[in-house]
Amino acid sequence: MGRTAGDSWIEKGHMSTTQIHTEIDFTQARGKQRGHLAIPYSYNLGGWANLLIPVSVVSNGDGPVVLLMAGNHGDEYAGQVAILKLWREIEPGHITGRLILIPCLNPPAAHAGTRLSPLDGRNFNRCFPGDAAGSPSEMLAHYLSTVLFPLSDVVIDLHTGGRSTNFLPCAHMHLVADKTQRRTMILATEAFLTDHAFLYTDVAGTGLLPCEAERQGKIVITTELGGGEPVLARIHRLCQRGLRNVLIHCGVLAGQEQTRSALKLPPVRWLQALDRGDYRFAPESGLYENSVELGEEVRRGETLGLLHFLEKPDRDPVPVVAHSDGVLVANRGPSLVKQGDCVACLAHDTDPRTLP
Ligand SMILES: [Zn+2]
Repeated sequence: MGRTAGDSWIEKGHMSTTQIHTEIDFTQARGKQRGHLAIPYSYNLGGWANLLIPVSVVSNGDGPVVLLMAGNHGDEYAGQVAILKLWREIEPGHITGRLILIPCLNPPAAHAGTRLSPLDGRNFNRCFPGDAAGSPSEMLAHYLSTVLFPLSDVVIDLHTGGRSTNFLPCAHMHLVADKTQRRTMILATEAFLTDHAFLYTDVAGTGLLPCEAERQGKIVITTELGGGEPVLARIHRLCQRGLRNVLIHCGVLAGQEQTRSALKLPPVRWLQALDRGDYRFAPESGLYENSVELGEEVRRGETLGLLHFLEKPDRDPVPVVAHSDGVLVANRGPSLVKQGDCVACLAHDTDPRTLP
């Protein structure tokens, strides 16, 4: 909080300015603009190629600036579909302030059906704050960190579990230290109208998009809307309803904000997985059998899944067990697992308003 946008990359010694070109005016122009972020890169048949990231800005009067993104990981499609719909539907008359839409941050990965970028092998969500002179993923992370986050009040980054993980569909957030920022993020997370809201911690590295946006004091809204290769109709509906409601909640989109009680739904159930032990990893490679359904309650010591060994049929399967009582919020997608893959996440009831 209270630091300027450029701090992080100056600290890292990345003093160069962005190489990304755009014809979009993100700050002054009114109405509806559509264009691209052009990221220079080379491949064998394209020495002066550009990776084009579609971007639209819809602006009308004074109000919040909301940056809405999906496709951070290519194989997470529900949010990309939801933003593509808004791209075509939203007109300046629906907006107060400015809405910046990026349906897909990682088109090469989305086309390939992969989590990582096929251009540079990077996980985009580990590239922040980025590098102006780095790979395409690093250049885009740098552009978001130094150009788009600083001009935004709200940063929305829509995820699912992709092909690797199944999630109990939820909006989720970090327990940010600043209490004012945290309170606003709790309300925005609840505005997504999911049955579950989830406080998570980073067990797999640093450099996440939400961490950089949070560090800049932004209201950050993120989701994990299911997962797996097929995207069910109910997940699309959940994503699109939640996204619209969040935009209304933030004051950028006209309309009546919905609440769960008005929809005759029970109150949101807040869950947290803030200890590393809540995340269970495969002790060796094998064929993983999920033994518990998402949303099921388990007791400490209970088996969450079994590792089988195709090459050793006589060998007893190895159980992956719960280290505490909890609710299963995420489990393994593909049956094939490598040693060290996260195969389960257990969460615990919490009230984020009472946490220190
Ligand atoms: Zn993701």
